[in-house]
This record gives sequence, structure tokens and C-alpha cells, in this order.
Amino acid sequence: MIDVSKISIGRNATIREALLRLDSTGFGVLALLDNDGKFERTVTDGDIRRLILQGCSVEDTLRSLPRIDSVVLEYGYTQSGALALMNSHAIDHLPVKGEDGLILGVLDRQELDEQILLSTPHMGSWERGFVDEAFKTNWIAPLGPNVDAFEREIAEYVGCRSAAALSSGTAAIHLALVILGVSSGDTVFCSSLTFAASANPIVYQGAEPVFIDSEPDSWNMSPIALERALSEARSVGKLPKAVIVVNLYGQSADMDPIKEICERYEVPIVEDAAESLGARYKGKASGTFGKIGIYSFNGNKIITTSGGGMLVSDDDELTARARFLSTQARDPAPHYEHSQIGFNYRMSNILAGVGRGQVRVLDERVMSRRRIFERYQEGLRDCEQLQWMPEPSWSFSTHWLSVATVRSDLARNMTSSDLIKLLAQDRIEARPVWKPMHMQPVFQSCKYYNHGDASVSRNLFENGICLPSGSNMTDAQQDRIMESIRKYLKA
Ligand SMILES: *Cc1c(COP(=O)(O)O)cnc(C)c1O
Repeated sequence: MIDVSKISIGRNATIREALLRLDSTGFGVLALLDNDGKFERTVTDGDIRRLILQGCSVEDTLRSLPRIDSVVLEYGYTQSGALALMNSHAIDHLPVKGEDGLILGVLDRQELDEQILLSTPHMGSWERGFVDEAFKTNWIAPLGPNVDAFEREIAEYVGCRSAAALSSGTAAIHLALVILGVSSGDTVFCSSLTFAASANPIVYQGAEPVFIDSEPDSWNMSPIALERALSEARSVGKLPKAVIVVNLYGQSADMDPIKEICERYEVPIVEDAAESLGARYKGKASGTFGKIGIYSFNGNKIITTSGGGMLVSDDDELTARARFLSTQARDPAPHYEHSQIGFNYRMSNILAGVGRGQVRVLDERVMSRRRIFERYQEGLRDCEQLQWMPEPSWSFSTHWLSVATVRSDLARNMTSSDLIKLLAQDRIEARPVWKPMHMQPVFQSCKYYNHGDASVSRNLFENGICLPSGSNMTDAQQDRIMESIRKYLKA
């Protein structure tokens, strides 16, 4: 919405002044205010053209503009309602009334047509150069100088010894489990509140997932539930082969207690940091706490190679093994010799070129997403129905997504899914929080350990909402989202 003050003009202004104003503001519309400063009507290029055709000169004032009652949008409108109104009157601008009945601003059709997505790729200025270099040198195959450099750059960024660039985050989790020797009949513990890609590789290996609830302070794996699950597993003589700890929405899990527990039971940690590249836990990079960490460069993540992943470790032999397994496990021999089952999981040199460009803007992307979260909190402070994802003092979250829960008891029973549907009518893509794995039909026979009496992850799923958070979202787009949310929560 265009603020009235930015496009206001009085009847004493000349047609020339109006044209200059239209030209400099670039919105294609002005707001004509009467002598008391109250909104009277909109003035478009077309209105000026008609004055000139009637014989007015550019030095005449706007006094000869007819008095009309502009069609006005009432407070609480929906985007689809606004579009329908524009269509029925064949106009592209609509004044919008505020809660107090005064005109707040003018809505532009272009703004309505534009869909705001949850999180879209955001390219920087370096990617093309690295990709061009790959073309020039014909390094189109997997492997190549961009792959080696991208691995070094990620390892350096997160402060671990080595990294293996792979075709996806899922492939990285799968190889981590293969390397840790997970096989048929084993169990692997995994955070329940996550995307299915965290848990699917357990099943690829013929092993059985056991799901662990979240704790309320970080929304990540509950050390209490983990301890209970491990203690029960030991009592029946079946400790898991690994624990997959997920760092949700850009925030690290509480790694100190989780590490202490896993060390006590001597179970290795795989850290799923697909969503938390750039985040820190007590100053140390998220993804570097387990025996193996993984990142994702899928299109919606904080940085992207369009598709890709990385496996990191402080054990060079582990990453070397990941590289070996990801390129079909070829033994060193001139002919094709295989003594193990391999995979085709390596990242291509072209995509690694995109990744190298993206690493260079990673810190900027983190700061943008953190700023978006802060703007939501600040701008929607009066909406006490929204409770933002907490950020404990030990956490430096990237806020990959800005997430909140809706207290429907304070919102006239409006649930998070109601709000998601309403925002969709305004062409704003919001999503529910991940549906926990223990609630998924495909994992219904798997064991699950609650944090306390109630399931924290289920509650977060049932009340959570993820808001558009892309680092390339403009302030104006975010303002539009906040305006919509406030309209529905306050109406
Ligand atoms: C995106 C994601 C993955 C999978 O990464 P891909 O690169 O898409 O295979 C795994 N775990 C979590 C938590 C994710 O968000």
C-alpha cells in the first residue's frame, strides 16, 4: 500500500505540478486532499489526460477536476476482494480506509497480483563467474576445482577440518549413516519435529527410526526425552547406532546436554544442520558438534546451489570415505574394481560454482533473515496472539524461517491453519510448522518419546505458522504481510 503522505496533492497545484509529481513518485496515482487535508479522490495519468483534452493548459490548477467519490476499500478487506473490486470498476488503484475510517493509503494492483513466497533463492554477484569458469575449462562433470574449493570454503566457514560436497542434504545424511555402519535391524534415534529427509535415510539402510520430542525452549531435541529413550534402549540391550539431532528453522539444538548424554551412552551424533548453516551454539558453528554434520543447499535454504548438500567432520578419513562412497566406491585400480556398494551422490562442478558465490554472501543472508524476524516481532508487537519461536541465550539463530505459534484462545478461536488460509487469499505463502515424524502415516509403527506429559512437537505443529522469510523480500512486502496479519488477528 502506498502511504497517502507520499502521493498527496492539493487542488491549488497546477497540472504541470501534478504531472511532475506522478513522474517522480512513479506510482501512477496521486491522492487529492481537500483544504482540511482530508482525502478527496485519486488522480491518475488518465484523469490529467482528460483535463488536457477538455482544453486545460498545464498551468491550470486541479480545481477543474470533477468531484467524485472514489471507490474505497473498507478496513479488513482481502486481497481477492480488493482485486474483484478493481476488476469490476476497471481501475488499478484503490484508496484504503483505516480502522478509524480515515484513508490510510492507496493500494496498487501490481502489489495485489504479486505472490509473496515463503523462501526463494537469492543469488549474489559472484555465482556466474564461477559457473562461467567451469564452462570455459569444460569442468562440467562432477569433481573439479569448484567442488574442491567449495568444500574448503565451507569447512573454513564453519571451522571444521574437512567437507565432502554431495548432491543433496538427504544424500549427506544417508552417507553419514552408511559410514557409521547403520544397517538392517539397527535403530537410529531422530528428532521428531523435522522434515522427512532427516529420517528417510534410516529406512534406506533397513534400520528402524525412534523419534524424540522437542523441548519448549529451542523447539529442538529434548535432552530429557533423549535420556529416557537411551536408558530404556540400554535396559533392553539395544542402543541406537546413531542419534540424528536436527537444528530447526536456523536454530541449534541445546548441544551440550545432548552431547553429554550421547557420550555417556557412547552413541555417535549426526547433526542435521540443513536449516542452520550460519547459526552458532555458544559461539561455535551449528553442524560441527556431532561426529558428522550435514548441510543442505536446496532452493529454499539460506544459501543454495539449486540442489546440493555437504557432509562435514573433524575426521579427514570420514570425509574421504564419504567422497569415495559418493562416486560409486571405485577401488584404486585401472579397471573398474568394487569391493563395496557405492552411490552416485557427488556434487557437480557447475553447482559447486553457484555454491562458491553463495558462501561469499552467507553472512549477509544470515543478517537479512535475522532482521526480518526482528521486524516481524517489532511490527506485530501488539498482536499478543503470536508467540515467536524462542531464541535461548546460547543460540545465535539464522532465523531461516520466521516462525510463531498462534494462541487461538486469544484470537477468537482463529487457529494457525485459519490464518494460513486467510493469508493465502492475500497471495501470501505461509506454512504450518513441520508435521512431526511420529505423526506421519509412514512412520506410525515407530516408537516415540515425549518431552513431558504432553507432546511438545505435536503442539508446535498444531499451532505453528512459518511466515515468508526470504532474504530477498522487500520491506514493503513484509509490511504488506504484517498489515494482513494484523487485519485478521485484530478484526
Ligand atoms: C532440507 C532439509 C533436508 C534435506 O536436504 P535436501 O538437500 O533437500 O536433500 C534435511 N533435513 C532438514 C531438516 C531439511 O530442512
